[in-house]
Order: sequence, then C-alpha cells, then structure tokens
Amino acid sequence: MTLNVGVIGVGMIGQDHIRRITHVVSGARISAVADVDFDRAKSVAADLPSAKALQTGEELINDSEVDAIVVASWGPTHEEYVLASIAAGKQVFCEKPLATTREACERILDAEVASGKRHVMVGFMRRYDDAYRAMKATIDGGEIGAPLMFHSGHRNPSVPGHYTSDMIINDTCVHDVDVARFLLSDEIVSVRVLTARKNSLASDHLTDPVLFIFEMAGGALVDVEASINIQYAYDIRGEVVGESGTVELAESNTVVVKKNGQYGGRVPEDWRERFIRAYDTEFQEWIIAASKGESTGPSSWDGYAATVVCDAAAEAYRSGGKVSITMRDKPDLYTTGGTGASTGTD
Ligand code: NAP
Repeated sequence: MTLNVGVIGVGMIGQDHIRRITHVVSGARISAVADVDFDRAKSVAADLPSAKALQTGEELINDSEVDAIVVASWGPTHEEYVLASIAAGKQVFCEKPLATTREACERILDAEVASGKRHVMVGFMRRYDDAYRAMKATIDGGEIGAPLMFHSGHRNPSVPGHYTSDMIINDTCVHDVDVARFLLSDEIVSVRVLTARKNSLASDHLTDPVLFIFEMAGGALVDVEASINIQYAYDIRGEVVGESGTVELAESNTVVVKKNGQYGGRVPEDWRERFIRAYDTEFQEWIIAASKGESTGPSSWDGYAATVVCDAAAEAYRSGGKVSITMRDKPDLYTTGGTGASTGTD
C-alpha cells in the first residue's frame, strides 16, 4: 500500500520533507500540498508527479485522496491542523512545536485521548539519530549504572537575522529538552537559566551563550550550553554520567585526514548535515506506522512537555530564578503498550 501524504506548509522544512518522501524513503507519495501562499503551493505541486495544490489546510486534511498529514507550517498554526487531523481520524506528523502554548497542547491531548488512540507524532528528530539511540540503549541496558547527569552542548555557527532572543529557548534548546527526557526516561521538574559573558560576535539584541540547568524528577541534573555564534561549525555535544560509567556522543567521521603533522575530521556545517539521516529514519518509521493507522515515537505528550518546559525556561530567563514545572497527570494513552502507544517518554 502507498500512503498518500498531504503537506501543509511548503516552506523550507516542508519542501525538504517532500523531497525526502518523494526520493529517499519508501511507502508514500505526496498527493496534496497547501500553503497560505497558494502560488507557492502550486509551484511545489507542479514539480511532483501525483500532487495537487489546495487552497487551505482544512481542505487538504479532509480530502479523500489524503491518508495522512504533515504539518510544516508556522508554529502558531499547528494546533488547528493537528486538531482537524484528529477529528478526521487521520495520522498526522507535526513539526515541532506541537503547539505554542500549554493550553493549546492540552486541547490536543484532550482530543487525542477522547479519540481513543494516538494520531500524532511530533518532529523531534534527534530520537531517530543513530548516536542518540545508541546512548539510550547503553543507559537503558544498565551499562553505566543509574544516570546522574547529562551535559548537552548545542552550538550553532551563526543564526539568521530574524532570530530573536526567545528562539534560543523555543527553537534551539527545545531539542535538548526533548533529548534529555528521551535519554533519561524522566520528566523535567525545574529550570534555571544563566548567561555567560556575551559573545562579541553576537548581534546586540541576542544573549549568547546561555546555560540552562534542568532538574529531573528522579534527581538527575541536565546542563545545556546553547551557543549561537560559535563560528567554527554546528557542533552537538552530549555526555551522560552514570554511577559507574559514562556514555557520550562520539565524533562521527568516516575518514580521518592527516596533514601538516596533525590529524582531524569534518565537523558538520549545519543541522541539516548533522541530522539528515535522522530525518530520513524519522519519516520512514512514521510512514510504516501511519500506513497501519498507528503512531509511534514522540507523542503529543512529548510535545506538551517540551512546550511547558520551554515556557518555564523563558520565565527563568526573565526572572533569573529557579522555576518549578508542573504538568497534568499523564493519560494512560501515553504510558501503555499496544497499538499506537508511546513507551514512557519515548
Ligand atoms: P518556513 O520556511 O517559514 O515555512 C513555513 C511555511 O508555512 C511557509 O511557506 C508559510 O508561508 C506557510 N504557512 C504559514 N502559515 C500557514 C498557514 N496558516 N497554513 C498553511 N501554510 C502556512 O518555516 P520552516 O523553517 O520550514 O519551519 C516550519 C516549521 O518547522 C516550524 O514549526 C519550525 O519550528 C519547524 N522546524 C523544525 C525543524 C526541526 O529540526 N525539527 C527544523 C526547521 C523547522 P509564508 O512564508 O507566506 O508565511
């Protein structure tokens, strides 16, 4: 069976996912696209063998030739498209954020729970990265004992002109928040935010670098260094310290270059290069599950948790103090096994 996928929002990442579904992974094709810019939707559809351009996301979701939906539009639009997809009984892949407010995420949780099954997967692609998966397997296998700390580093060479202060939390650190919950299989209960001496290469309106300190419910600590003008490359660091060992992300070169009395390898240029295979795996696994009417991977609960934690981090950034985080009770839909279920914070 070929899964007919409709894509809402055909900007940068929407077009990249269309390329991926059309040329890289198997089991799906693009049957429809929609964008607030209808001319852009028509132009993208014209390059695809089987896709039509539709005027609105609602039309696309309810189209009989669309089996499953990818939401890759602007964050504040995600809630309405995810809710409409659940109402239509269709599987939906939603780029992060699930929604931009706690209340909007809760409306999605309520709708999905009322529907009786999972429909939503959120685009936290690091969970599909081979290295993070190997780290998690090491931790879950008990090889380093109980995890005590997770040191995470998120370094961007530079950021575009439209990047604003809040994006270091909602667009950059959000991935570290999700991967901390994923690796440690635990929820975040408090956050503090510290700022270092400003990188003189950063724009005047940006604080850079920023250090986030999260406390997990089980007592482990997580620190995230977010640097957004580090110049040298896109560098993602990660080390979990356990009671009897450590596990860390390795440098991931296939070749080592030796010259001028030194040896070295390549550091990725940007996030696309670093996580390209993770995005491919993410979509292949989504297509396999969605073709069976199921949903796996990062759930609405994970999207909700990320939004709640980022809201608290923004408050901690403003106040300079420690902010406690409370979440509603986790519905059984996101804790039990079986069709469409999530495994804990997976
Ligand atoms: P983008 O290039 O601005 O693309 C968004 C597209 O959606 C644009 O074509 C935009 O049109 C369109 N759009 C806006 N409102 C819409 C609506 N109501 N209905 C239909 N289309 C609408 O942004 P992007 O960088 O691709 O990001 C899209 C989403 O992906 C964001 O939520 C972002 O956080 C997420 N993202 C995730 C990752 C990741 O690593 N997982 C990476 C990048 C982006 P206009 O340009 O005319 O507004």
